[in-house]
Amino acid sequence: MRELAFVRHLTGQLTPTRADTRLALGDDAAIIQPGNQALAVTTDTLIEGRHFPHGTAAFDVGYKALAVNCSDLAAMAAEPAWVTVALTVPTLDSHWCDEFVAGARAAGGGAAVDLIGGDTTRGALSVTVTAVGTVDAGCATYRHAACAGDMVAVTGTLGDAAAGLSCLDADTRALTHDQAELVSRLNRPSWRRGAALAGVANAAVDVSDGLLADLGHILAASDVGARIDLDALPLSMALANWVGGDIDARRRLQATGGDDYELCLTLPPACFEQAQAALGCALTPIGEIVADTGLQLCAGDGTPFDPAALGSVGWDHFAAADAADKSS
Ligand SMILES: [Mg+2]
Repeated sequence: MRELAFVRHLTGQLTPTRADTRLALGDDAAIIQPGNQALAVTTDTLIEGRHFPHGTAAFDVGYKALAVNCSDLAAMAAEPAWVTVALTVPTLDSHWCDEFVAGARAAGGGAAVDLIGGDTTRGALSVTVTAVGTVDAGCATYRHAACAGDMVAVTGTLGDAAAGLSCLDADTRALTHDQAELVSRLNRPSWRRGAALAGVANAAVDVSDGLLADLGHILAASDVGARIDLDALPLSMALANWVGGDIDARRRLQATGGDDYELCLTLPPACFEQAQAALGCALTPIGEIVADTGLQLCAGDGTPFDPAALGSVGWDHFAAADAADKSS
């Protein structure tokens, strides 16, 4: 198949659905006209062997490529609207393409997302998606807007994707039901409808690098600290079964495991029920924002928890907390 035919094959399945998509594919650039709204724009690249394992099904590659970008928009309280896709593939395989598109379409869920442009190149498999979303002016959830006294809450469950990555070392045909569930959470992450948080939450981030690392971005940008209850982190049945009684493994996976693409948000405690109802998914309080910088971890009984027990989390607020302890 020649490239032009391949592109026509791809784009022929993607008729625009939005009235504000004025011109999608077929020109030098797309034209979108969203009126008085603000636009959020994000780009993420997924490379085979780095961001998804070699041999990952095309459906899952398409699913994850779209989901991780929608998740970044959700973290800004933006509703995904348009995407462009730059696809680098070793060969032009229409079946692979169909599966890729089906996965991306499935990841969009009920959102009205139009593919409005892209590029195809020959090479090692990688996907770059640029996603544009709309958010009412003044209602985006910025990392720098957390306030002392805010509740910290997370959607869904944490630690599943990191556990799923461990399960991939096993023979995939021999996976247990729980292991298959964890692998599915890695390959087909749920992005949350963060647009529902516009005007409700103060700050938000999506959990791509691990809860503590990503929450750390909010704390640094807002110049605040947080007190987090490690045993309040929401736990899936699959992960509970997989770790059994190994509390250390559970805490480490939930606090530092990446790729869950849940939202971690801060909001006034009085807004919690409104946020929970608007999101349409589980939302769990895990702690609070405090004025003193640094991160304080505790166990469920309130006992302080030494973050060193979690190993490296890839950020330095623990060092800041240590320094504060020594100077006080
Ligand atoms: Mg992000």
